[in-house]
Amino acid sequence: MTGDELYYIKDAVNRGKISGNGYYTQRCHEYFKQKMGFRNCLLTSSCTDALEMAAILINIQPGDEVIIPSYTFVSTANAFVLQGAKIKFADSYSNNPNIDVNAIEELITPKTKAVIVVHYAGVACDMDTVMELASKYNFFIIEDAAQAIDSYYKDRRLGSIGHLATFSFHETKNIISGEGGMLVINDERFDERAEIIWEKGTNRSAFFRGEIDKYSWVDIGSSFLPSDVTAAFLYAQLENLEKIQSRRKMLWNNYYQGLLELKEKEYLRLPEIPDYASLNGHLFYIVCKDLKERSELISFLSGYKIHSVFHYQSLHKSPFYESKNGELECRNCDVFESRLLRLPLYYELDLQDQQRVIKHVKEFFNKELYEI
Ligand SMILES: *Cc1c(COP(=O)(O)O)cnc(C)c1O
Repeated sequence: MTGDELYYIKDAVNRGKISGNGYYTQRCHEYFKQKMGFRNCLLTSSCTDALEMAAILINIQPGDEVIIPSYTFVSTANAFVLQGAKIKFADSYSNNPNIDVNAIEELITPKTKAVIVVHYAGVACDMDTVMELASKYNFFIIEDAAQAIDSYYKDRRLGSIGHLATFSFHETKNIISGEGGMLVINDERFDERAEIIWEKGTNRSAFFRGEIDKYSWVDIGSSFLPSDVTAAFLYAQLENLEKIQSRRKMLWNNYYQGLLELKEKEYLRLPEIPDYASLNGHLFYIVCKDLKERSELISFLSGYKIHSVFHYQSLHKSPFYESKNGELECRNCDVFESRLLRLPLYYELDLQDQQRVIKHVKEFFNKELYEI
């Protein structure tokens, strides 16, 4: 909470229209277009919804292939599977959980319809290279920018580069509305149809703008719009974007500086940020030496009431995927699955509490070495 959330929610209710595409939805759209420079966007109820819209928009047909990093959230893959796509998983880099662009080309076939890049922890993927592949082989790039609000590739905002991009405002992200998301449309060929898919397959938005005299069922779609109450909460957060972001980036840097000594002694690994990528303070992780050490660290920290958490289970080894496709190897992804650990990072995190986390992480590694 940053201050005005409840005030705007009350105002939305007083305006007498809390369904989708109301006053605050429009204000959020304006913010994203005018202040952030996105060409076109639509708020959705989640990033999962936005990914499902993207799969419909690029017209996925049964048998089409989509290349996705295995180290990601379920929805990145599931949204395309719902439309009948076959998922081809790509590995991460050895020093960064993002999709290894060198692993993409060998997965491309004439059936490849899209590559979905995930900017893990808000750190950009190598966008110039994937965009070149897309034009060479003629497929779409969709940015899953769920974690990447206010982050950059070179001087370009993440979410503004691929043909389509999706954001999340789930309460675990930087800017939140409980559940919430957004589809960004960077290719104008998708503008008209996106609005129809958003509005249950009807041309209702055009009707409300007075462009047609009745609205009809014209395509497939679903109810992808969030309530205006959700948008009101989100708008208050957007107004405080700078405050939230500068605090989160400071917390990120404190962890990095505080733990650098352990990295230099090679007790653990810290995030490696490519030159082309910015930081947005979405999450801070360390990489332990193995699964056992990570489990021990989690319980060591929980002894001090510090909640640290691991992250994704490799999707290529998920029961759903493996039962249909058999075994696949993504070695780097498996390393992050078993060794990556996230430390507490949220807007309200107290600086003294953060120092306590750093102190105990150091204590764990120094002690462990002493015992050996
Ligand atoms: C959070 C997240 C999602 C899902 O977002 P929802 O808004 O909860 O649907 C998808 N992809 C990635 C990479 C995420 O981090």
